[in-house]
Amino acid sequence: MLNIRYELAKELKAKPDWDNLGFGKYFSDHMFIMDYDEGMGWHDARIVPYQNLSLDPACMVFHYAQEMFEGLKAYRTPNGEIQLFRPQKNIERMNKTNERLCIPQLDPDDVLDAIKAIVATEKDWVPVKDGTSLYIRPFIIATDVQLGVHPSKSYKFMIIVCPVGSYYAEGIKPVKIFVEREYVRAVKGGTGFAKVGGNYACSLIGQQKAEAMGYSQVLWLDGVEHKYIDEVGAMNVFFVIDGVVVTPALDEGNILPGVTRNSCIQILQKMGYKVEERRLALDEVIEAYKNGKLDEAFGTGTAAVVSPMGLLDTGDFKMVINNNEIGEIAQKVYDALTGIQWGKCEDELGWIVKVC
Ligand SMILES: *Cc1c(COP(=O)(O)O)cnc(C)c1O
Repeated sequence: MLNIRYELAKELKAKPDWDNLGFGKYFSDHMFIMDYDEGMGWHDARIVPYQNLSLDPACMVFHYAQEMFEGLKAYRTPNGEIQLFRPQKNIERMNKTNERLCIPQLDPDDVLDAIKAIVATEKDWVPVKDGTSLYIRPFIIATDVQLGVHPSKSYKFMIIVCPVGSYYAEGIKPVKIFVEREYVRAVKGGTGFAKVGGNYACSLIGQQKAEAMGYSQVLWLDGVEHKYIDEVGAMNVFFVIDGVVVTPALDEGNILPGVTRNSCIQILQKMGYKVEERRLALDEVIEAYKNGKLDEAFGTGTAAVVSPMGLLDTGDFKMVINNNEIGEIAQKVYDALTGIQWGKCEDELGWIVKVC
């Protein structure tokens, strides 16, 4: 059991308007912090009032982006309990990201204790309304004060939480996607499989370009040949071609191994669908579309669970997918996953971890 020191806030914040939570706008009363120093390891786990940090401007994170993060949610069930969805997968991914960024490993049990402790402390911030949840953001920054380029010898691991609204308050609407052919987000040997802020910094320009043209997200192609499909925005991507579900394989190391991706694959297989994890060329998708065999396309991630694509624009060819409506498979997997997450369906796969 992680030993956590509690310093509770003397005054609590006013709660936000539960009907207008949006995403990542309101933060709770407390945060979790734990420090790392060479020779001491991770130490001084504490839950303290949510507060600003005081950091030397020469801290390594500001200059060389030695930073990682995670994202998961706590859900309120119909009987008022609070639960997590496969947090062990996020923690496992955290340590893979840490390894890639030369950040010291964390004890997985300690991280789970920390997540449960901050969520339990902030239980009144877990919203009740349909489709809402408490978003949990663990992250680590390098805090050595020096400009030499080396892995830091000191770090801060923090967890902040924020109530977030229903992603689909107005129903599931398919989105317009633009195929990005100029910029890439990841290459083999790079950090595509790791959840690091730097990946986001360099993908902003593609996102901005797509938004300026009236699209909501970018479809990323591989960084070498600009030919194979990687991801959509900050989500994993699935295509249904002639009844078979296809998603890019993880083995090149340029795709983020999403917990939602993995869960969708397992649920679809359980439902009896054929799922292929393999390389998927954009040309194959175009070909399938021309032959009337592109049934569905959707992104997956913790924030939206499933986000169907209504329009896919390659720059010189526009594909309207499934009449710009959510497809049958996307709908089924969305219902199954959200049913488990919000405790409305039985957790047959043992994915739920209760908090309180
Ligand atoms: C976090 C993330 C995903 C989705 O992962 P989940 O664990 O399903 O939330 C997909 N792609 C990228 C680039 C991500 O950062």
